[in-house]
Amino acid sequence: MFHPVLPRGREDRTVLVSGRGCTVRDTEGRTYLDASSVLGLTQIGHGREEIAQAAAEQMRTLGHFHTWGTISNDKAIRLAARLTDLAPQGLQRVYFTSGGGEGVEIALRMARYFHHRTGSPERTWILSRRTAYHGIGYGSGTVSGSPAYQDGFGPVLPHVHHLTPPDPYHAELYDGEDVTEYCLRELARTIDEIGPGRIAAMIGEPVMGAGGAVVPPPDYWPRVAALLRSHGILLILDEVVTAFGRTGTWFAAEHFGVTPDLLVTAKGITSGYVPHGAVLLTEEVADAVNGETGFPIGFTYTGHPTACAVALANLDIIEREGLLENAVKVGDHLAGRLAALRGLPAVGDVRQLGMMLAVELVSDKTARTPLPGGTLGVVDALREDAGVIVRATPRSLVLNPALVMDRATADEVADGLDSVLRRLAPDGRIGAAP
Ligand code: PMP
Repeated sequence: MFHPVLPRGREDRTVLVSGRGCTVRDTEGRTYLDASSVLGLTQIGHGREEIAQAAAEQMRTLGHFHTWGTISNDKAIRLAARLTDLAPQGLQRVYFTSGGGEGVEIALRMARYFHHRTGSPERTWILSRRTAYHGIGYGSGTVSGSPAYQDGFGPVLPHVHHLTPPDPYHAELYDGEDVTEYCLRELARTIDEIGPGRIAAMIGEPVMGAGGAVVPPPDYWPRVAALLRSHGILLILDEVVTAFGRTGTWFAAEHFGVTPDLLVTAKGITSGYVPHGAVLLTEEVADAVNGETGFPIGFTYTGHPTACAVALANLDIIEREGLLENAVKVGDHLAGRLAALRGLPAVGDVRQLGMMLAVELVSDKTARTPLPGGTLGVVDALREDAGVIVRATPRSLVLNPALVMDRATADEVADGLDSVLRRLAPDGRIGAAP
């Protein structure tokens, strides 16, 4: 087997075989607290019987049929209606995918195609942000911020420009200016330089996930959205991580009061039990990209009925069990516990919105420089010594607990982090476990 992101020479593996709630178990019978809900997606926790039943029933009835042209299936139609009921007003149409990166590819294509079909084919540029993550296709990997997805893979998608992300902890990025003011000025200048009539869209995660659970200032998105709209530039929100309760609301756009032209989802739509995703779009975009001949791009699994049945059962559970409310309550509690770690020498920042949390590790608290060697060693120590699984991002430990996590389990997660981070020195070394 080929494992992505595995350095040569590392042969050790934690091989997982089962999971229930917030706990997963490996081949040796050892259990771990999954504080990352895999990769920020198991909203309802592991091992839910209702999901297995919904999938089995649908597989027995109609495992798959596509939704191309004049053919559709009942589960895709039902899920689309459910999503548009939940979504910010104005997002009335749904294009189904099998994951987040696929959704971003579709959103990028639709953005350019929209302008092509509405008489502005020269609008081809896409604006994004450094440290963004949008997937690893050639389009999504180019709009992602990390050079790791571009260097050596070229030529990548042309006409992509990366802006400074809004990251309140890293005040040094903004020349002493207010974060939003700086970002808006940079955005306005960039629009001016490229030419407003040449830009198709801007894409962004409302709260950056893989970039380290970075919560922007409250006025960032409303002001960005207004500026884009004034220039006829479409806004694509990538809610692959943030949708379906992750931040305590159905969609993170609700926190900022913005409605994008296109909104990409995946992950939590099925809690990851089967791969699925959906791009929500306005009637205006849908109508333009459809045109007289129909939008020419469809995947084999667009509207997969088994995935849609699982998504419907998953959304039922999120609603019935009040998981949005729990995400706020337990997220706030866990953030309070983690805030107590701020006094430790290698802990720079602790931030949170709902069940998206990050602990940023630093070698120097004043310069806010990253830990030498990155965060992987700390993540390994957390798993091995404390039995807690969190996600490594370049500067931060990211926690995305399942929305079902209770306070007592959140306390166990916080205790695990406390025990390891207490032993972490600013040079990245971890002292022996007591
Ligand atoms: N967008 C965001 C914000 C993501 O976090 C991810 C995955 N972590 C993706 C897109 C890509 O999704 P996928 O891996 O399902 O292609």
